[in-house]
Amino acid sequence: MAVPAWVPIRDELRDEEPYGAPQLDVPVQLNTNENPYGPSEETARDIADSVHRAALTLNRYPDREATELRTSLARYLGHGLTTDHVWPANGSNEIMQQILQAFGGPGRTAVSFAPTYSMYPEYARNTHTRWVAGRRGDDFGIDLDAALALVAAERPDVVILTSPNNPTGTALDPAHARAIIEAAPGVVVIDEAYAEFRREGTPTALELLAEFPRLLVTRTMSKAFALAGGRLGYVAADTAIIDALRIVRLPYHLSAVSQAAATAALRHQDELLAQVDALRTTRDETAAWLREEGFDVAESDANFVLFGTFDDRHAVWQGVLDRGVLIREVGPLGWLRVSIGTPQEMQAFRDALQEVTR
Ligand SMILES: *Cc1c(COP(=O)(O)O)cnc(C)c1O
Repeated sequence: MAVPAWVPIRDELRDEEPYGAPQLDVPVQLNTNENPYGPSEETARDIADSVHRAALTLNRYPDREATELRTSLARYLGHGLTTDHVWPANGSNEIMQQILQAFGGPGRTAVSFAPTYSMYPEYARNTHTRWVAGRRGDDFGIDLDAALALVAAERPDVVILTSPNNPTGTALDPAHARAIIEAAPGVVVIDEAYAEFRREGTPTALELLAEFPRLLVTRTMSKAFALAGGRLGYVAADTAIIDALRIVRLPYHLSAVSQAAATAALRHQDELLAQVDALRTTRDETAAWLREEGFDVAESDANFVLFGTFDDRHAVWQGVLDRGVLIREVGPLGWLRVSIGTPQEMQAFRDALQEVTR
């Protein structure tokens, strides 16, 4: 559905669609990798009290530098990071757009490796950054030789690596991360939206920050932290990189309400993250079950599993939806992605999938 001819939109946007993972009112929602466990009554109360205190000063602009929240986020991340190493925004999607505004732009190039998060090329488009997608290997891992060749050929200003990757779940080999950072002439962003779900023994790129000043690690409270509705993402990097991002942020980009809610949520991190271990176990059980059923399953360090392959994946997606379970039609052709929900939700998913593919 193109934008009507009389609307004087930029030519390259005329045939584009807004982001639109289906938001359908079905009983079992396993399509956007949310945490199925919401906050407790007590935590919700504390968040509401904090928002109430913020509301009493809503005649004033919020703290532009979000200092209290950044301090809480730095404490949560550890790894020797301080307030000045962390920068928050309205979801890590806004962070990624700020990164491309600061480090991409006209005449500049960003590189990533597909299949990966579908929003990156759109931020590149929005910021007039040239977008180049390399390919991942058959196991959805980065093929290091091909990646280094692409970096050498394109000399990208921004490289985006996603670990664990969405929609495949694949974690990045730290040796590969290191080699790509060393070869890249610009900044390297490692999107760790799903880091808290990684399997035992999978390291985080936070460990590399002290060594590589041009590395940025993005995180979010939308997934493990069970705060998707709060819209809070953040990046950890060298203080000079953070200062560069502050140049392109909108004035007062993060509302007092968002800052208060996220800071309060961080006080309850133990509770909000309490289900992560259970979700990881359910993920591994789901992957094992899918394999027993004869499907191909991508190795996952995230809170979702990519499985397939189907000649007509849309028909399978629709059939599962008709049984009240919403999963995601995304990723390489023939594959589907299911987010990890509660045990009851996963039972509903298994029943629906069995009926549809029997
Ligand atoms: C979900 C997700 C995000 C997080 O987006 P928010 O804007 O923080 O909700 C970022 N990157 C990837 C790869 C994701 O899947």
